[in-house]
Amino acid sequence: MPELPEVETTVRGLARHLDGARIERVALNRPDMRFPFPEGLVQALIGARVIGLGRRAKYGLVHTDRVTTMVFHLGMSGRWRIDPGAPDKHDHLVIETADHSFALCDPRRFGFVDLVETGALAAWPPFAAMGPEPLGSDLTPEHLHRAFAGRRQAIKLLLLDQRIVAGLGNIYVCEALFRARIDPRKAAGVVSRPALARLVAVIREVLEQAIGDGGSSLRDYARPDGELGYFATRFEVYGREGEPCRRDDSGVITRIVQGGRSTWYCPRCQK
Ligand SMILES: [Zn+2]
Repeated sequence: MPELPEVETTVRGLARHLDGARIERVALNRPDMRFPFPEGLVQALIGARVIGLGRRAKYGLVHTDRVTTMVFHLGMSGRWRIDPGAPDKHDHLVIETADHSFALCDPRRFGFVDLVETGALAAWPPFAAMGPEPLGSDLTPEHLHRAFAGRRQAIKLLLLDQRIVAGLGNIYVCEALFRARIDPRKAAGVVSRPALARLVAVIREVLEQAIGDGGSSLRDYARPDGELGYFATRFEVYGREGEPCRRDDSGVITRIVQGGRSTWYCPRCQK
């Protein structure tokens, strides 16, 4: 499942060939993905020039000179295939410029596409109540301190709350709490200021590292069959239940369930 680093890498990969180009052809191979394709999508894109790409949380943004933005979400299994050669039966949307073609391929179809007026993006419902970007300057220890004040819920659960931090998924929350040596079960409101400062720093570190790893897989995508896919990062705790803690503190990585989702942590060094 694509997390923020995969979406960021996808956007950077698309930007290499799509930014500045004029869209010449658009094909929809079915009426919907998770939701129906927006009405007028094809007409809105054909002839439009792409004037920039971006990302908000786990959404990719393709801005055009018609003051509209195509927003895409990769869902569980979505990826963009650039100059794919042979078509895939799961290529639901195909965009062509003079030099390249871009196919949004999503076998499970949890992904979706929407068309939003660029000036109204901040008010688009999924973005309206979203908290700061984890890689942006608005995520500060002070922000977390305010958001967590008086909250008795486990810090792990509040970090997954998109209103507090946007786009942080289960993997990177587990990894960041390990690196910051914070017990995921701890009531958010009692986590110390120094611990929150560590947390903000390692959230950036773990995401940037994953984006860097994605950057190395980006090189592959010049291959004729190149795809902007997923990449495996070396995780410290995620999925490592029963294995020794990498801090060599004789702790064993433990899995618990919080809010219906797995959390992995080391009970020895996360306090
Ligand atoms: Zn440990």
